[in-house]
Amino acid sequence: MCGIHHHQHHQQHGSHTSPSSSPATSQATPAVATRACPNCGRPVQGDYIVCPYCGTQLKRSCPQCGRAVDVDWNVCAYCGADLTAPASETPEP
Ligand SMILES: [Zn+2]
Ligand SMILES: [Zn+2]
Repeated sequence: MCGIHHHQHHQQHGSHTSPSSSPATSQATPAVATRACPNCGRPVQGDYIVCPYCGTQLKRSCPQCGRAVDVDWNVCAYCGADLTAPASETPEP
């Protein structure tokens, strides 16, 4: 009753898939404006608000439009507000 029949399967190994289409990815360096931290001198990105290394404030928020402006700026480039004025924090909800 134990009839084991070995069926010979003719497996066809003729289809070799070779992925010849390799996309040439040219690594283009992203143009990120890097600057040096005025305190520790480590490279920080231009859009950083605070230096992640030493915590020095690199940008401040414009008192008028609220956008991040450079601490070296005298006038806000977005709304034209005078940034040389002493920052008088008025808690105004
Ligand atoms: Zn720093
Ligand atoms: Zn502004």
